[in-house]
Amino acid sequence: NRNGTTTTTTTVKPPPVTLQQSPIINLDRGDPSVFEPYWRKNGGKCTITISGHDSLSYFSDPNSVCWYMEPELQEAIRRVHRVVGNAETEGCHVVAGTGSTVLFQAALYALSTSSSSVAAEPMKVVCAAPYYSQYKEQVELLQSRLYEWGGDAETFDGSAAPFIEVVTSPNNPDGSLREAAVANKTGNGKLIHDLAYYWPNYTPITRPADYDIMLFTLTKCTGHAGSRIGWALVKDVEVAKKMTTFMQITTIGVSKDSQLRAAKILDVVAEDFGYAGNDADKTFFGESRKLMAERWEKLREAVKDKKDVFTLPKYPKRYCNFSGRYFQPAPAFGWLECKEGCDASALMKAHNVLTRGGETFGVSSRYTRISMIGREEEFERFIERISGIQCVDEEDE
Ligand code: PMP
Repeated sequence: NRNGTTTTTTTVKPPPVTLQQSPIINLDRGDPSVFEPYWRKNGGKCTITISGHDSLSYFSDPNSVCWYMEPELQEAIRRVHRVVGNAETEGCHVVAGTGSTVLFQAALYALSTSSSSVAAEPMKVVCAAPYYSQYKEQVELLQSRLYEWGGDAETFDGSAAPFIEVVTSPNNPDGSLREAAVANKTGNGKLIHDLAYYWPNYTPITRPADYDIMLFTLTKCTGHAGSRIGWALVKDVEVAKKMTTFMQITTIGVSKDSQLRAAKILDVVAEDFGYAGNDADKTFFGESRKLMAERWEKLREAVKDKKDVFTLPKYPKRYCNFSGRYFQPAPAFGWLECKEGCDASALMKAHNVLTRGGETFGVSSRYTRISMIGREEEFERFIERISGIQCVDEEDE
């Protein structure tokens, strides 16, 4: 080049013509169709009947902080956590949501309006990068005066004012197990733990999680994303009340039809444990863990010969209290890392594979996220396609 130096850039090599014409594989979204075959086999157990005279009232349980929550759902949630051992529910209030997405917003509202928060400036909301891309979008959507996006928790100075830290564990996108990055260091931070993936399908259950606000969702637990049921386990009754108020003002509650169906599905999943004679492998969680482990094995095998193109994170084996054995996490997403200078999602796109690039998660475009929880055919097609994916180094003189 003009300076007389030589630089090396990595470019996306155009795929062979046959691949250019090959069908698009969409691994961008985290739509949990992976468990559909299990539910096709076992779906009959979950059937409920809702008559014309059911679900007329807005109200469900006037004695509960979350008055629109069906007692059956509350009981089923507590039970499934007891059986799986992934969260301490004793002393927690349960707040239901239309998925956990809305509960994240309810928690932001509750935490940013509590008496100890300084209201003069919007509270910063931070999360260690790579972070779930939707947090930033949700925080910024309404340009609230209560809170605003503060970016990467790792580089955030939490000493100045109260702030909110979101901890996602296992993390979306990279599957890492996490603790707060900054909140516990300064005493100014309020925590929201998003534990959407803390189920034996994806990760060993090492202990019951026990935090101030824990978000869970049926979407990732059983795969029923379309039912739109999520829940928060909340220690402080005032926070639980404010979250309920948020739900009341924005949606006047959550579909009772969905709640009843979710209660039934969670009951079936918890009862499974008893029927299977305490053999965790034969339960929904055991079978789905096996499925996820098989997918990961196939992915690792396919990527093995592609070290020059991309690598995957390694996860140490841990003892799972639920299944009574050591196993390696099998996260809902694969987090691919390409070499310096390579745009990972552009590379995949050139091969007709849609993924979500690192920049959406607050990190470099060298990374991209692929869904591991989509349909079987799509996943298999992706595995076949991996062998043809390559980056090339070009000498730019
Ligand atoms: N948190 C995380 C980390 C997620 O990945 C998702 C779904 N992609 C959600 C929350 C929201 O799930 P839902 O609204 O379907 O409950």
